[in-house]
Formats: sequence, C-alpha cells, structure tokens
Amino acid sequence: MPVIDVHAHMFPQSGIKAWKEGREWFGATVTKGATGPATIRQGKNETKYSRTEFWVPYRERIPYMDANGIDVQTLSLNPQMIRDLWEPKSTIDFSKSVNDELSEAVAESPTRFEGLGNLPLQDTDASVRELNRCMTELGLKGFLCASHVGGRRWDDPSLFPVLEEAERTGAFILIHPFNNLIVEYGIMPRYHLINLIGNPMETTVAAASLILGGVMDKLPKLKVCLSHAGGYLPFAAGRFDHAFGRRDDVSGKAGRLPSDYLKAFYYDCISHSDDGLKFVVEQVGTDRILVGTDFPADMGLEKPSEFLAKQDYLTAADRMKIESENALKLGFGKRGVAKH
Ligand SMILES: [Zn+2]
Repeated sequence: MPVIDVHAHMFPQSGIKAWKEGREWFGATVTKGATGPATIRQGKNETKYSRTEFWVPYRERIPYMDANGIDVQTLSLNPQMIRDLWEPKSTIDFSKSVNDELSEAVAESPTRFEGLGNLPLQDTDASVRELNRCMTELGLKGFLCASHVGGRRWDDPSLFPVLEEAERTGAFILIHPFNNLIVEYGIMPRYHLINLIGNPMETTVAAASLILGGVMDKLPKLKVCLSHAGGYLPFAAGRFDHAFGRRDDVSGKAGRLPSDYLKAFYYDCISHSDDGLKFVVEQVGTDRILVGTDFPADMGLEKPSEFLAKQDYLTAADRMKIESENALKLGFGKRGVAKH
C-alpha cells in the first residue's frame, strides 16, 4: 500500500524560469544568489526561501521522497505565495499557470505526485471556473485554501459558492494557515511565534468559522482537511461547547454542538507530539487522519512512517489507514503503486 502525503509544497518552476531570464513573474521579482536563498519581492513584501528542495524540478524530489518513505506526494503551492490581497487579474493568471504546472508534474510522474491547485479567491466567479477546470481537465484532486482570504473567513457568504462547488465536484480542501495578518500587525514579533502559535491559531479560526457559521451543516459532504493536526481545534472544542450553551452569538448558525463536528474534518498527522496526535486520534478516530509532511518546510515532519510507528496506541491496521487507505478512499494515489 502506498504511503500518501497530502500536505507538501512546491515553488513554481515558472518563477525559477523568470528569474533565470531576468523577467518579472506575475508582478513579482524573483532573485537568487548562486547558493543563497531565493527572494520574491512584490511591493513592500519580501519573502525568502532558503531550502534548495523548493527549486529542483519536480522529478528531482523523488529521491527525497524515497529517503523519507513517501510513495505519493501531493503538491500544493507554498502558502507564502498566496495572493489574496493582489489585484485579481494577475492572480487569475498566476493561479492558471500554477495549476497547469501542477497538472504537468503529475502527468510526468503519475504514480509519485498528486496536485492540489490554487484558486484566485478574491474573485469568486473566477475561482468557481478555475475549480471546475482543475477538477475536470487537469486531474487535480482539490485545492489548498488559506485560513482566510484577505481577512474574510470561510463563513463569509462571498466564499460559499467556492465551497459549494468543491462539495459538488468532490474536491479535497486542505485548509492551510496563512499568517500574513499576524505578521502585518506585529503581535508575535519574535521566536517564530507567527508560525508556532499563529499557524495553529489560524487553522482553528478557519475551522471554527466553518462550524459556527453553519457551513458544515449546509455542505455535509465537503471534504476538508485541517493542517497540522487541526491546529488547536481538538483541544478548544470543549470551550466552544461551553459557549454554545450560553451565548446566542456562538450558537446562532450551527445545528449541533461544536465538538460534534470534529469528525466532519480530516487532519494531517503533523503534530510533532506523540501525546498531541494521540489526543486527536481519541477525538476523531483513525479514519480521519492522513499523512502530511509539509515538505520541504523546516517545520515539517520528514519521516511520517517512523513517527507513526512509535505511536504504540496505533495498531498496524490503524497505521495502514493513516498512511494509505484513508487517502485512497479520498481519491489520492490511484494511478498505480510507486516503484522505488
Ligand atoms: Zn504547509
């Protein structure tokens, strides 16, 4: 059974091509030294990418995957490149380019890669169109969606048509933290807290918005995976339940107790904590857990099978579900068993 990673990131090769040719890249400038990090600049924003694994052609990732026991890696755009505040036209072109490239990477190595596309979410109609193109023409399995879209949360009515179409087409939605507002407000200035605290917080806000906004009631078949073992959601659900019985502004839209929705989501296994993952498994069961690596981020989980093997509360059958069967049921990894 193939080990299927649903959470790994890519840096578009089109950006590297633009850098080599000294061209602008969808309104951004890419620079890179011979060995130093790559930098993407757009306006006052500047993002550095130091891991060379980002830069290699997709096929050259396969030795890293083999070394880490990953048979199928699901590629999605590096979340720092999400353009929720950019003008829509350039973002629509950017999304199409990224999705075409993902589709080509999957076609080139069909037993090793799957793809989650990018949507230009500041334009709902364009997103619905692109979602359909990705699901029907490009062979992608779904989308990485940031925890917010320019500050709009996932209970915002303007985003509902995208989720409605995702449910209809069976698209898998990986909710990924996007901490740009935390960075902008400067409330976690040191110790990488924007990631250590900010990222799980962002995922939790996204999940809470889907639950308390009634979206999960309206779209019961929506396939949503929460990054990083659900952020704080499994741990915070009791607090939500407490408020649900006491505050109309919490209970107004959801049909059930917030904790009842925990099993409506999927969760990757990137907890970096044995006890943390055990708690999530106790809350939602092994049917809802998937392998994620966050490759090639420094906050990633490099060897998920080794991590899962040391969880003594998981049986061999449980591990097989998490590593493979759950993702296969969601449509990942069906192009044959990888040979490596
Ligand atoms: Zn990630």
